[in-house]
Amino acid sequence: MKLFASNELVEVSNLPPRGLGLVAKRDIHKEEVIFIISGRVIQTPTRYSAPIAKGVTIDPVISDELCTEVYYLNHSCDPSAYVRDGGLCVAMRDIRAGEEVAIHYGTLGIFGDEWKPSERQCLCGAASCPGWIHGYNELSPEEKERFENFTQAWVKEL
Ligand SMILES: [Zn+2]
Repeated sequence: MKLFASNELVEVSNLPPRGLGLVAKRDIHKEEVIFIISGRVIQTPTRYSAPIAKGVTIDPVISDELCTEVYYLNHSCDPSAYVRDGGLCVAMRDIRAGEEVAIHYGTLGIFGDEWKPSERQCLCGAASCPGWIHGYNELSPEEKERFENFTQAWVKEL
């Protein structure tokens, strides 16, 4: 298992049936910065990379043993966090200790070849979950409205 440098707000936990994810170590307040997305800038997205600006993709894998937090940031159709200002992962609402920190991947952009549609089954369990992880171009009008303030401007232009 890859490890990231100690973070006061989140740690990795096993979240069946979804596998590993980030959970809050203490109560996190709405709009609190949880971590800064960091890593190497890469040209070709991977399943673990995160776009933080138009044409700028961050690979959180540092080595076989090390990564940065975003490596474990799961998708949820009812997310608790979002990304703003070129890579700040921020609480969308108050998050209780032990609760998962997850974002809606659709607020980060659209999926490329690194994720085949058949590999995007969603197990988040949210009442609003359509059963698959969907990109910005696949959000329903209701979701676009719901996530309006949690989607970066450059994503809305995709
Ligand atoms: Zn879901």
